Amino acid sequence: MPIYQYKAIKDGCAYCRGGFETMQSMRDKPLTQCPQCGAKVKKCPSLCSGFTPLLSNGNLRDKGFTKLKNRGNGTFEKLT
Ligand SMILES: [Zn+2]
Repeated sequence: MPIYQYKAIKDGCAYCRGGFETMQSMRDKPLTQCPQCGAKVKKCPSLCSGFTPLLSNGNLRDKGFTKLKNRGNGTFEKLT
């Protein structure tokens, strides 16, 4: 089943404020409310900003990505 990401449109609780993931069947209707607090949520088409639990360094490495951190002086630090 696909995993969808939602994020509170405004306010929200600790669960939805930073975004959360839920597994839903394609047939299920998209959530409109946080299951925890009932705040209005929106579906994120891609990763919500600041919300990257699926893309931890370990996962990135598993997928063959290399994560680089800009050190700010034109050089990059390899994190994976
Ligand atoms: Zn909530």
